[in-house]
Amino acid sequence: MIEKQQSLPCIVCDKPLEAFPEYILQPNDAVMCRTTGNYGSTVFDPIFTGDTLHFNICDECLVAKSDSIRMTTGGYQPVRVTGIKMPSIWGSRKANITEPEKWTLGEQSELNPHNMHISEVMAHANDKDYSWNAGEDLGKWVNAAIAETLEHVFKTE
Ligand SMILES: [Zn+2]
Repeated sequence: MIEKQQSLPCIVCDKPLEAFPEYILQPNDAVMCRTTGNYGSTVFDPIFTGDTLHFNICDECLVAKSDSIRMTTGGYQPVRVTGIKMPSIWGSRKANITEPEKWTLGEQSELNPHNMHISEVMAHANDKDYSWNAGEDLGKWVNAAIAETLEHVFKTE
């Protein structure tokens, strides 16, 4: 039996939180928050040191304090490769970040991928606005996906 570990308590109500066994900072029934600090804070503003503060807020407090929470969307958009046997998310591309808006319970964005045909992928292999899960193996992924798709087409005809 896996022994339950304690995560950091909720920073708002001090409720103890249970951690996932694999990662002690990640709690059940709460969100984990981290900040690298920022200009404006007089107590935590390290510059490029990598120092990061971690804290948790339980789901109950998140809902109770929702008037004080803002949500933005964006920064990146998933890229779904199409024209292959199994269209799937292969990476992401840069996207604009929306203006902060009030967050309400249950509000989160629908998955809104950018669809890219397999024939277009290599044209963006070194495009700095794109990040590919396959990294330097992107060409191998493209060739394997095309081969798998062709094999599937011939098998089903
Ligand atoms: Zn709480």
